[in-house]
Amino acid sequence: MLKKSSLNTFVIILITSSLFGQRNYFQQEVNYTINVSLNDVKHELSAFEKIEYINNSLDTLHFIYFHLWPNAYKNKETALAKQLLENGETTMYFAKESDLGYIDSLNFLIDNQSIKWEYDVEHIDICKLILNQPLLPNDTIQITTPFHVKLPSAKISRLGHIDQAYAITQWYPKPAVYDNNGWHPMPYLNQGEFYSEFGSYDVKITLPQNYVLAATGDRIDAREEILWLNKKVAETEKMIEEKKYSKDNSFPPSSTELKTIQFKQYRVHDFAWFADKRFHVLNGKVELPHSGSSVDTWAFFTNNEPELWSKSLEYIADATLFYSYLNGDYPYNHVTAIDGTISAGGGMEYPNITIIGESHNDLTLETTIMHEVGHNWFYGILGSNERDYPFMDEGLNSFYEMRYMRTKYPDLTLKEAFGNNKILNFLGLNKFKHKSQYELSYLLAATRNVDQPIGIKAPEFTNYNYGGIVYSKSALVFDYLMNYIGMERFDEAMQFYFENWKFQHPSPDDLVNTLQYYLNTDMQWFLKDLLLTKEKFDYKICKHKQLEDNSHVILVKNQNKIPDPVSLSGLKNGKLVGTVWYNGFKGKKVFEFPPSEVDNFVIDYNGAIPEINRKNNNIRTKGILKKREPLQLNFIGKIDNPHYTQLNYLPILGYNQYNKFMLGCAFYNYNIIQRKTEFTIAPMYAFGTNSPVGFADITQNITQNNSIFQQITLNAKLKSFAYDFVNTTFFNENNSTHFKSFYLNYYKIAFNVDFELKKKRDRSSITQHIGYTNTNIFNDNVSYHLNYADSTLSTINKNTSTSLINNFYYSFKDSRVINPYSVLFNLQHNDKFGKASITLNYAITFKNKNSLDLRLFAGAFIYKASNFNHDYRFRMSSFSGYQDYLYDYNYIGRNEISGLGAAQMVEQDGAFKVWTPLGQTSKWLVALNIKSPKVGKLPFKLFADIGASEFNESLYKDKFLYDVGLDICLWKNVFEVFVPFAYSNDIKNALILNNRGNFFETIRFTLNLHNIKPKEIINNNIF
Ligand SMILES: [Zn+2]
Repeated sequence: MLKKSSLNTFVIILITSSLFGQRNYFQQEVNYTINVSLNDVKHELSAFEKIEYINNSLDTLHFIYFHLWPNAYKNKETALAKQLLENGETTMYFAKESDLGYIDSLNFLIDNQSIKWEYDVEHIDICKLILNQPLLPNDTIQITTPFHVKLPSAKISRLGHIDQAYAITQWYPKPAVYDNNGWHPMPYLNQGEFYSEFGSYDVKITLPQNYVLAATGDRIDAREEILWLNKKVAETEKMIEEKKYSKDNSFPPSSTELKTIQFKQYRVHDFAWFADKRFHVLNGKVELPHSGSSVDTWAFFTNNEPELWSKSLEYIADATLFYSYLNGDYPYNHVTAIDGTISAGGGMEYPNITIIGESHNDLTLETTIMHEVGHNWFYGILGSNERDYPFMDEGLNSFYEMRYMRTKYPDLTLKEAFGNNKILNFLGLNKFKHKSQYELSYLLAATRNVDQPIGIKAPEFTNYNYGGIVYSKSALVFDYLMNYIGMERFDEAMQFYFENWKFQHPSPDDLVNTLQYYLNTDMQWFLKDLLLTKEKFDYKICKHKQLEDNSHVILVKNQNKIPDPVSLSGLKNGKLVGTVWYNGFKGKKVFEFPPSEVDNFVIDYNGAIPEINRKNNNIRTKGILKKREPLQLNFIGKIDNPHYTQLNYLPILGYNQYNKFMLGCAFYNYNIIQRKTEFTIAPMYAFGTNSPVGFADITQNITQNNSIFQQITLNAKLKSFAYDFVNTTFFNENNSTHFKSFYLNYYKIAFNVDFELKKKRDRSSITQHIGYTNTNIFNDNVSYHLNYADSTLSTINKNTSTSLINNFYYSFKDSRVINPYSVLFNLQHNDKFGKASITLNYAITFKNKNSLDLRLFAGAFIYKASNFNHDYRFRMSSFSGYQDYLYDYNYIGRNEISGLGAAQMVEQDGAFKVWTPLGQTSKWLVALNIKSPKVGKLPFKLFADIGASEFNESLYKDKFLYDVGLDICLWKNVFEVFVPFAYSNDIKNALILNNRGNFFETIRFTLNLHNIKPKEIINNNIF
């Protein structure tokens, strides 16, 4: 807090009390006394808690909601268990009973009288204490209870232990918040952690003597303990100085003697403690920028990453200084960070103390420590309701995290941020400022229209958006606001906010109204457009004209719905001439720019606006192609860079048995950020046929808010390769002709329109698509004409046939992490046939991403013309190359009946792994395919297929066909090798009849390179 004269402060208090006077703000006070002891053999806590509850509201209370959060770990039906599973985390789902946890032995008394209390009907980690006598406004009651906690595995969430490393967080019975909106009972969740009453804590912890203990609050009367810690500090400093780091992370035996340490802290809303016998300890001091008083800094860490942690005090001190300077001095006596290699990664904030996960590099450790320390302000001191408004702490805190990095490391690029990863550098990350981390994370969701408004409740965010929106987009919009307001005034306003709301529960309205009041400017647009909607920014420069007085007029179009402020900068020779902020508008507007020498105008030059398309933000005042950015050709690809027109290229080498080796180059504009138009052109030269081949693909992505569709995609595909070789030798010999051998080519042109339906709930794992594909195949055919009278008149002709196939589909996919399934309906037709099919996939999930996979296929013909083409039949066997009549897949040998080419297959229709000519039908077919989970550590699975089709007595003896065998699953759905052990007699006979009965010839494989689509991998794995 910048110091104001006391008169000023007085005036401000007067004004604010009248400004906020009508809000009827109150908050309850809750003071705790807890005695707890740790049993480090059974991993249990035994405790007694005494709570003083002061009713500061104007309401008479008849009951009090309590949180019993250790019960969140009790079974797999809790809100926590469900949220973890929805987020794709299966640790708790597959946890052993002994890794779960709970709280019990409760016996609530109020003012020493027993009372009635009951568990919440829905959530076992909430209960309700029914008061014998109503609690009147301004009255105080004393609530007591013993409790016992069985600690869960700390791998599940935040409370628990890994072996004898203890993280005792969110662990004691605690009243829910009662505020102007009534009670806020909430089950414990991983996503959206806190809303708690402020008060004081007096906690006595008993545990074996050789535990190093770190907690919220100050140690009371603990001279011996402090001397012991100081000894540890000296040892740690020596270890760092001599760089004698050990890798030993084993736990020493616990002393038989116990110790009890008392901690006290006022004006906090939570209390956490951590105990580990292995901790090294560092201790330092930092002087606060405004008051000049000093604060202790502590770091506790294990042998996991001691070298990284040797610099941890610097990070703790810098974060404390930075937040104190910008917002207001740290009001407690110590700031502590502990190394919690027990947690899965990242970090977690508690008052005074934060737990930090494994970091791997300096920058990640510093970022995590400073972020978590920063939460002392945005969470600890400004105790907003994180469950309902997560951006109030995670968002604002990420904004300060971004500023901390920008201030301390102005030249920091994403290279350092991502840990100097070679692949990421290759993608161009080293060219991007640290801020791009937040931008890319927001754009990844926004360009796919799967983003969400910042202002929604924590549990409603998708797992991705909790980071991409709550953290990243919030940081961007507050940076935008700061740039618009001006940094100095913005910081003053934030200090005013801190001073007025510290140790309270500010809401988003309180934040915006406080800033609005201080800045004396309208701020509702910020709340309405940027926090409550997911509308995007896309300003575009249309035209520029220079007037006679050397001033400029620039026509700018707002391509989106939010009319919020925008800046325009003039540049000369790449140097900034000046920047002007303009008020927001809808549609088009002419900007006037003062007389100046400018050769280039740029919207949002310093990247302060969360723009989703920067490619249209630029215009040169002279020359042709004024809006075109220079072309940048990138090998493989680079991250989106607005300063270039980017085109990626990748030399490609292909092979099939006819074209032989093919060499070419793919040019494409795909990127992790989805573009409206995306394309690939891949011309190649085939050395076997000495001819051009290749493929091309263009996609138009249409996203609109308020539509029933999440996204509409239009796509056109083109491809051409050879698919057979016609060897004329035999024909020439028999007919005394001299025809040259030749190749047959195919050309495919397909159009697809796909509608992805909007989800009912953003977090839903269900996606649905409806679409239509029109496939046109032009393929060379060979026709032989034999003239029996005069064989020299016999001819071989190559002609082209055309076929068109329409396909309508509907797909439903639930990609939930446990037992995902999907259903696909297909209706295929042209003038020769019409057929319908349904494919059902269901996986039964086991631990470690292992699953039993079931697939059911059923298909039937609806009609068949007299000139029906046999190519369109259903087939029991997975498709060989020549059966892929839509030319959808890539085969090594599309027309082979022996050798490697013949062994390649695609699991379609009946999807039998063994090849068979049986079960080719133009009536109906059903089949069930089973793949077992992996057997052991090797990629071995078992498969079994069973199917039936139109029964043909001349071909079959068995009404059902089957095969079983080994699936060597080298890359699921891409590269699998199938070795059949046994199959129906009918199949055996047919194999012999076709000369394919030899064991090695029954082995087939899939090589579905078409399933490796970076974009789908992003869509399926991130969203
Ligand atoms: Zn955070």
